[in-house]
Amino acid sequence: MIDPRPPDELLAIDRDHVWHPYSSSLDPVTTRLVESASGVRLRLREADGSTREVVDGMASWWCAIHGYAVPELDAAARDQLASMSHVMFGGLTHAPAIGLVERLLAITPAHLTRVFLADSGSVSVEVAMKMALQAGVLDGRPTRTRFLTVRGGYHGDTFSPMSVTDPVGGMHSLFRGVLPEHVFAPLPPHAPVDPVTGVPVSDPGALATWRESVDALFAQHGPDLAAVIVEPLLQGAGGMRPWAPQAVDHLSRRAREHGALVIHDEIATGFWRTGTRWAGDRCAEPADIVCIGKAITGGYLSLAAVLCTDEVADRVSASAGALMHGPTFMGNPLACAIASASIDLLESPGYGGTGAAGTVARLSAALRAGLEPLRERRGVLDVRVLGAVGVVRVDRPVEGTLHEAVTSAALDAGVWLRPFRDLVYAMPPYACTDADVEVLTAGVGAAVDAAASAERTGSG
Ligand SMILES: *Cc1c(COP(=O)(O)O)cnc(C)c1O
Repeated sequence: MIDPRPPDELLAIDRDHVWHPYSSSLDPVTTRLVESASGVRLRLREADGSTREVVDGMASWWCAIHGYAVPELDAAARDQLASMSHVMFGGLTHAPAIGLVERLLAITPAHLTRVFLADSGSVSVEVAMKMALQAGVLDGRPTRTRFLTVRGGYHGDTFSPMSVTDPVGGMHSLFRGVLPEHVFAPLPPHAPVDPVTGVPVSDPGALATWRESVDALFAQHGPDLAAVIVEPLLQGAGGMRPWAPQAVDHLSRRAREHGALVIHDEIATGFWRTGTRWAGDRCAEPADIVCIGKAITGGYLSLAAVLCTDEVADRVSASAGALMHGPTFMGNPLACAIASASIDLLESPGYGGTGAAGTVARLSAALRAGLEPLRERRGVLDVRVLGAVGVVRVDRPVEGTLHEAVTSAALDAGVWLRPFRDLVYAMPPYACTDADVEVLTAGVGAAVDAAASAERTGSG
């Protein structure tokens, strides 16, 4: 539906009445009007009524992996609408949910056997944490009420996920007394990505030192822990930081030794984003509970899933007689049908010409080729490419007025980016051609230059 009102009128209503993510009513963020999206491009309508098309470097916060107006997903949505868009999941079931669960089981490790369909990533983390708590109760360990994680993580914005998100980035001080206090291991050691293997590698000495501090935390808190929860291989919204599979595995081994479960939050990393289907595929130690989300519907609708083992499921069920969770839109048929179509597309051998693995490897090489030279630019501190994730860290926070200047510079280069903190990054749709990635990395370059050339001000 096209709203006939002029863009400035719509934007004025938006500014005065609509909350945007992490926004302030006192100092509203600049928003841009998207008219439509297709392929890997967003069509923006400017205040003067003109339009421009830009490459979406964000894949709509990492979920639109195939791009927009994807024929297979459009068709799945239309087909499903023709039968039902939603029915309750309590006491009822349907082929779209069953078909999706079958597909998820087929593409995840065999020890994961039970699937909870949640309606967003944060809710899936809530459910995973609730599972771990309920499983702990059964073992006669009602004292297992805490979670261990690493600094620099991000697990969502509702309260339980926020409580295991980095205490500084997650603004724990704002919610002191409300957020439960969990156990935070130090930031995992710096882990540059090996360009040949595509795996983050840490210095053995730094890893050994970090392990010691982890071990000390387990020695102190082990009996209190319900689970370890981490984003394997890549800390996403907490700082776009790759970390070594050995570090992930160390946490898993210690968790097991101390009777705690292992939760992998693959909401950002899943569906090939880091180069393998799951980031956990690079780890030796399996997870007991895995959360997936974001890319699961190819960016069409909100959906997430929690997978767990039979053992966890049975312990959870025996503890309280049931898993005590059931969102209204659980198993939404429309979302499930689109998710199944997205997975079928992604897992087809010819996806992107060479299959998902080959496609992400191609994007990774193109991102590396475009971003590595930016190391020489003024103000650039680090360049990190892991799978189809390309990150440039600059020497100042890209916030306040600088954020707008940097975003505009990228748009003028034909690219939509949304930098945060001191990070300018791209997580492009897999449908990007090498030429699209060239546009994208040039846009990142323009953004980085805009950040470096701005006057350094107190707020950045
Ligand atoms: C985005 C994200 C979440 C939260 O998902 P929502 O769908 O935004 O609630 C949780 N964990 C990770 C790792 C994420 O990237």
